[in-house]
Amino acid sequence: MSEILVLVDHSDGVRKPTLELLTLARRLGEPAAVFLGRCAESDVEALGSYGARKVYVADAPEFDDHLVTPAVDALARLAGACAPAAVLVPSSLDGKEIAARLAVRLGSGLIIDAVDVEAGPEGPVTEQSVFGGAYQVKAHVTQGVPIIVVKPNAVTPEPAEVTPVVEQITVELSPAAAVKVVSRVPRERSDRPELTEADIVVSGGRGVNGAENFALIERVADALGGAVGASRAAVDAGWYSHSHQIGQTGVQVSPQLYIATGISGAIQHRAGMQTSKTIVAINKDADAPIFELADYGVVGDLFDVLPQLLDEIGKRA
Ligand code: FAD
Repeated sequence: MSEILVLVDHSDGVRKPTLELLTLARRLGEPAAVFLGRCAESDVEALGSYGARKVYVADAPEFDDHLVTPAVDALARLAGACAPAAVLVPSSLDGKEIAARLAVRLGSGLIIDAVDVEAGPEGPVTEQSVFGGAYQVKAHVTQGVPIIVVKPNAVTPEPAEVTPVVEQITVELSPAAAVKVVSRVPRERSDRPELTEADIVVSGGRGVNGAENFALIERVADALGGAVGASRAAVDAGWYSHSHQIGQTGVQVSPQLYIATGISGAIQHRAGMQTSKTIVAINKDADAPIFELADYGVVGDLFDVLPQLLDEIGKRA
């Protein structure tokens, strides 16, 4: 069976999107994780628990202090050496750039932001939403090694314990890239899950009507163990930080559950959330477009509905 290369997303350990990619890779062939940087034993164990039969490790300072080119060098070298049936890359800003550059290097087809991947007669078949979410398409790559960027939450990670073979590789790196990272400042973090990786996202829009009222959205998110999102109208009004904006010009999320409160459902907002598995909308206007894509809708004032929701969650906690 051919290998499926999975680029490992790691910082303080292997991150959840990698476990999702390994779960998908098992449908396509033999998962082989590509770990760039210092790989701890616990990282190898984490990768093995989700079915990575092999872990390729390349460690060099360049993976840390240069932008994406060293990762492209490593993946290109491996793609040449082991002829994988596909390369799966997590959908981060870096991931997308690495995948795009790799596709150019290998002369391969590239699929960005798949929300599902299945084995097909002519290679992996992906599902993704295109044109701002107006269409769901199935696609497969017709040239070269398929390079597929997969959105977080495309699949629930399923454990499949194996003991991986670890292979250290040396990579001939391209001449020093023009840009070098000289320092890193960790982003301020809350205890809430990372927005792009969260299973549950609770979002507020213009209907929330003020920065102080976002405390209610946060309470619902915390009660459900979710992350907080916002529409651009709420962000532009200064009620919530831009890093939480969901949509075409913000973050794209695909959680198991997306709760949109006081959000009308403009096309640019949908572009960032409509691949969510279950969508709940709370809006006082029964004709709001968000109800067209909601699985469950509540027509009502969010300041009446959310406290009741919190009560119900509390009873079940
Ligand atoms: P509105 O459209 O004003 O809707 C507010 C909703 O709240 C209404 O439906 C109303 O009925 C409801 N409401 C009011 N009070 C209550 C209440 N008490 N209880 C319940 N419901 C209530 N938008 C994004 O979100 N993300 C993007 O990335 C994005 N990118 C854009 C890029 C471009 C190039 C452009 C042109 C626009 C972009 N927009 C984006 C903006 C987008 O077009 C909308 O203007 C925006 O999404 C509207 O936000 P909203 O739904 O919160 O506000």
